[in-house]
Amino acid sequence: MSQEQMIVPASHGEAFRVKAGQHVLIENVYGNQVADLWALAADDAFETSSLDQTRSVNSNIFFATGMTLMSSRRRPMLTMVADSGDVRHDTLLCPCSRELYRQLGCADGHRNCSDNFHEALSALDLALPFTPASLNLFMNVPVAPDGTVDRLPPTTVAGDTVVLRAEMDLVLVLSACPQDVTPINGASRTPRDIGVSLHDTNPAEVTA
Ligand SMILES: [Zn+2]
Repeated sequence: MSQEQMIVPASHGEAFRVKAGQHVLIENVYGNQVADLWALAADDAFETSSLDQTRSVNSNIFFATGMTLMSSRRRPMLTMVADSGDVRHDTLLCPCSRELYRQLGCADGHRNCSDNFHEALSALDLALPFTPASLNLFMNVPVAPDGTVDRLPPTTVAGDTVVLRAEMDLVLVLSACPQDVTPINGASRTPRDIGVSLHDTNPAEVTA
């Protein structure tokens, strides 16, 4: 597979086929951008990434280095093996949707992560009749002791990366979140591109 950097264009989604053992490097090119992530088993699109199974297995409501994204059948899908920003990634909030933007007062047709998920799948001739919960990379959602969640701009900086190792053959879907009403994609409220590349070994372990 390609080690060249591919781009998930701002406010759009892309799907990639990834083999077990391959490493996916996701670059927050501009630093401010949230990337919604899903995985589907290569041999059965109905086995999707599951955030409830993931929180259960990792005994944590955040996602961070060393943790594994689990499937709806409680099988390991992707393990985070490096994170240059060393941040807590959100597992709690839903992917944005046309209904969410309607509630925010936007005109119909606002791009959204849920539609991006289905658009990206259709490019690989795949389809699902529902939208699974997303793993929200770089999304800064601190949780207060009383359970209240906040929505803050990412703390990552331009060029920050995470590396995920595939634990099974899978389809990876990424959406460069189009949210431009709240500051979840930075104070400038300007969605940006996300970079993606596939590697046979962990690119974060390469030393000079
Ligand atoms: Zn979104």
